[in-house]
Amino acid sequence: MSYTNFKFDVDADGIALVTWDMPDKSMNVFTEEVMKELDAIVDRVAKDEAIKGAVITSGKDTFSGGADLTMLKRMFQLFQDEKAKDPKKAVELLFENTGKMGGLFRKLETSGKPWVSAINGTCMGGAFEMSLACHGRVVSDDPSVKMALPEVKVGIFPGAGGTQRVPRLTNQQDALQMMTTGSSLTAARAKAMGLVHEIAPAKKLVETAKKMIKAGLKPVQPWDEKGFKLPGGAIYSAAGANLWPAATAILRRETYGNYPGAAAILKSVYEGLLVPFDTGLKIEQRYFTNILQSTEAGMMIRSLFVSLQELNKGARRPADVKPTKFKKVGVIGAGFMGAGIAYVTAKAGISVVLIDQTQEAADKGKAHTADLITKDIQKGKATADDKEKLLGLITATTQYAELDGADLVIEAVFEDREVKRKATEQAEAVLKPAAVFASNTSTLPITGLAKVSVRPKNFIGIHFFSPVDKMLLVEVILGKKTSEKALAVALDYVRAIKKTPIVVNDTRGFYVNRCVLRYMSEAYNMLVEGVPPAMIENVARMAGMPVGPLALNDETAIDLSQKILKATLADLGPKAVDPRHVELVNTLVDKYDRRGRKNGKGFYDYPAKPAKKHLWPELKTLYPQQDADKIDVEVLKQRFLFTIALEAARVMEEGIVTDPREADVGSILAFGFAPYTGGTLSYIDGIGAAKFVEIAKGLQRKYGAQFKAPKLLVDMAEKGDTFYERFNPYPVEAKKKKAA
Ligand code: NAD
Repeated sequence: MSYTNFKFDVDADGIALVTWDMPDKSMNVFTEEVMKELDAIVDRVAKDEAIKGAVITSGKDTFSGGADLTMLKRMFQLFQDEKAKDPKKAVELLFENTGKMGGLFRKLETSGKPWVSAINGTCMGGAFEMSLACHGRVVSDDPSVKMALPEVKVGIFPGAGGTQRVPRLTNQQDALQMMTTGSSLTAARAKAMGLVHEIAPAKKLVETAKKMIKAGLKPVQPWDEKGFKLPGGAIYSAAGANLWPAATAILRRETYGNYPGAAAILKSVYEGLLVPFDTGLKIEQRYFTNILQSTEAGMMIRSLFVSLQELNKGARRPADVKPTKFKKVGVIGAGFMGAGIAYVTAKAGISVVLIDQTQEAADKGKAHTADLITKDIQKGKATADDKEKLLGLITATTQYAELDGADLVIEAVFEDREVKRKATEQAEAVLKPAAVFASNTSTLPITGLAKVSVRPKNFIGIHFFSPVDKMLLVEVILGKKTSEKALAVALDYVRAIKKTPIVVNDTRGFYVNRCVLRYMSEAYNMLVEGVPPAMIENVARMAGMPVGPLALNDETAIDLSQKILKATLADLGPKAVDPRHVELVNTLVDKYDRRGRKNGKGFYDYPAKPAKKHLWPELKTLYPQQDADKIDVEVLKQRFLFTIALEAARVMEEGIVTDPREADVGSILAFGFAPYTGGTLSYIDGIGAAKFVEIAKGLQRKYGAQFKAPKLLVDMAEKGDTFYERFNPYPVEAKKKKAA
């Protein structure tokens, strides 16, 4: 018998080697077909008396990425379709479907034959849960190998036995820590935790796994043995009594109750460890079915799993343009941003010409790469050899002639039209005709900058965020004349440096900064109203934002906010700015020289380490303070999320962003918009346009015009539309469904 996704060989000792190697896929994933085949293989191994046991490994570099996103998408769709007809049956169907994977793994571990998982590469989610169901686990010593149960990051949790097996193999504290953060384990850490049995050289991995079987590995899991005891002590033990009250408090502190998936992990572990293993699996399956129906899970899976992968794979890339393989990329301006851009480009193995006005400035930009890789070496993540290679890829120079032959040039010179004009002209004088010229401007419209270009078709915006090496999002900005080909080149580049692109039409502030400004602007409003500063910061985090607006403003610099306000006033007139905001930033910058983190004085004070930053005590003296107990926390939370989401809706209305996936993913990656909502537009869809508009009206009456719903939303509210229906990113699929 042969299989599509597995190779099956039995050696002379009667040990089956099951090699997972899906055709036409770069990575193994769990699909319905894979589960069906694995089920048949488990039966075959169990029934064939000549087979002593089985080793499962992967034929690819990585072991597996876990569940296939299209399978998850189908399961959700099935549920939604059924729910419309018969809600009760829909839940039953969902319960049945969610139990399939866990059922298969339980069948494997109770099949009577020993199974060993030979983990040759990164092993995630469902694949790690399958490995945990095997009686033995061997991991390759390759430092790149990682294992994780990352489900919580997309709003769900390990629902195929993970919450029951991990805390029966290791102590409950480590188990909770691993699953509620979704963090990755190295082979050494997994072994120390008792989650794997052996670490073997990559070449001897399968041999080691087979040896375990030959040595008489028992085909019974510890929890199926009589007298099994939990490794870290029972729930009702001294250790349990110490752990659980703290665990729930820590979860609350970290999530503010916004992530039901994370809470379900605690519940599944706590309740599951009090009962026999099979009952524990049932408990997990019930919570899993429950969590899958939550708005949070639906929105997070869509944005952070499905859409994110689609955007990374080039969902917005014009399909008919040939992909570009970058040999040489130019970066003009070796300052704060240019230095970071040079680093991420070289990191992708691309040669970089890094230009600045003086050799000293160019060298300083290159030194940034040396600093970053030196830190990696100190952490054991890179070698001296890697450093030499990386630095060898960057040529720091003052000579524009070096740009000859570059496929792409990114300018990151001062934010000044005249300086940018000169840089464009000097670069274009040496560039080959097909090369693309990109600006990293954060405020100047691309169409205007492209006017000085001799080939505006090849002119585009590639807008990075700081710090460049850490931020995962890049905005690709289209000027009026930007060609499809230039867009394809820019997207190929963003893919090469392993960041996520969103495509944005030209406008003041593009997408991300427009939203971020709203966030900070609402904090200014609250300050002026006399909301205590600490409350502003805390409530923002309770709403799910990773950084409070005042802390964020310190990072981006208060004098930059002052500059932006001044420019807006000059360009758009006095109605475009709030005079109370101007007064606030002028007071901070001009009167108190508080510019933000960069000068150690902003909304916060930054004392020398190890002391922590704290809010500037005088801040609350600037405005008469309200009584915190009389302020409605829920309304403050709503104000933050609504003001940003409304701006995102305006951006859609104006056609600046055209695909809701980009608005959602962009908002989470760029400024951490409450990830449990699935992003700015999913937040509105989750509440429902009608209810959202109603709440916005109430906020507008009380707090001002920033809460005015755009026409688009009012129309959506009337029609009962969602963003994903109205701006459907899958028109072909929708058509097919309609036809069916
Ligand atoms: P910066 O002042 O740190 O660096 C600018 C560099 O450009 C300097 O090293 C300067 O010497 C060099 N330069 C000036 N004229 C030049 C020329 N003709 N040829 C070569 N080099 C020249 O500024 P930055 O913060 O890196 O910002 C650069 C650009 O990136 C700006 O357009 C800015 O709006 C944009 N940007 C900045 C951020 C941010 O957070 N700082 C974020 C996104 C985009």
